[in-house]
Amino acid sequence: MRRILSRHGYRGNYTCPRCLHRMVIADKALIQVDGRYGIKYVLHCPNCGYEETRIE
Ligand SMILES: [Zn+2]
Repeated sequence: MRRILSRHGYRGNYTCPRCLHRMVIADKALIQVDGRYGIKYVLHCPNCGYEETRIE
């Protein structure tokens, strides 16, 4: 799984860890973490319904 993630790990191309379907960005927001700004992505898999939140 780690190998798959690093192979597809570039921005805008996230793979679902459950079914390996390509995930879409359902929501994107600018947030503040420890005094620094980051972008929070909510990734959604349209195939199996898996959701993941990621902060960059
Ligand atoms: Zn999925």
